[in-house]
Amino acid sequence: MPGRRIDLHTHSTASDGTTPPDVLVREAAAAGLDVLALTDHDTTGGWSAAEQALPDGLALVRGAEISCVHDGISLHLLAYLFDPEEPRFRSARVELRDSRTKRAERMAQLLEADGTGVTWARVREIAGGTVGRPHVAQALIEQGHVTTVSQAFTPEWIGTYGRYWVDKTELDVLDAVRLVAAAGGVSVFAHPRATRRGRTVADEVIVAMAEAGLGGLEVDHVDHDDAARDQLRVLAADLDLLVTGSSDFHGTAKTVQLGARTTDEQEYERLVAAATGLAVLQP
Ligand code: AMP
Ligand code: FE
Ligand code: FE
Ligand code: ZN
Repeated sequence: MPGRRIDLHTHSTASDGTTPPDVLVREAAAAGLDVLALTDHDTTGGWSAAEQALPDGLALVRGAEISCVHDGISLHLLAYLFDPEEPRFRSARVELRDSRTKRAERMAQLLEADGTGVTWARVREIAGGTVGRPHVAQALIEQGHVTTVSQAFTPEWIGTYGRYWVDKTELDVLDAVRLVAAAGGVSVFAHPRATRRGRTVADEVIVAMAEAGLGGLEVDHVDHDDAARDQLRVLAADLDLLVTGSSDFHGTAKTVQLGARTTDEQEYERLVAAATGLAVLQP
């Protein structure tokens, strides 16, 4: 029997994906996936719609992707199967979302003041759920300033430290690892070597994260080249971390397709066994 097809990192309209969560689970099943994780930025807001629409044959791993920082470098931590009611991690997510709202409003105000036609009202409308820069990018596309989301992620627009970029609150990554563990979840460092998104952290930081309770590394990701993948696999083996692969699907906001990268069955089983917060939802 061939192994199950497992995609552990996807976004819906609850954050900066363009596919509603109920549609996402149906598309995942249609794409031949057996296991899907929903990991919207800083929110569990898409979970219930995904649960209710869960099609036959698809297992759902409930998760989130947490905005973190270490030494001024932004990084993302995937959190899986944590108890969503656990108060400390829950209030951390609320704070992260509040900060996202404030900074997006500020970016929209700066853009409006410069006569771009972008408004906060419109950005908020585009976002629906957790607001992110891709929604501001969408507003820039609507106003004809850029033609793709990526073109907005440049110094002239909302690229990091760019003209209209505004900082947001991020959790110290070691605190985040501990918060996820305390909520019964398993954490996986998302795209640790995605250099085109900005600076990445040194191996020593990953060692410290492992000591704090990190569960794994996302190795197979479109933003990693072969050398990065090889190096991360060695590091994961050294630190006894599990290894995942995933699409980081964002709907039409990015070109990657569901299931473009997948996680090995044994690694997935290890992740599920380590979680105490929630069970995987089987249809
Ligand atoms: P934010 O979390 O609001 O700062 O926005 C970052 C999000 O924008 C990431 O999670 C990606 O989904 C998306 N993103 C980052 N860089 C790019 C890029 N170069 N092109 C398109 N989307 C990007
Ligand atoms: Fe995103
Ligand atoms: Fe990410
Ligand atoms: Zn992501």
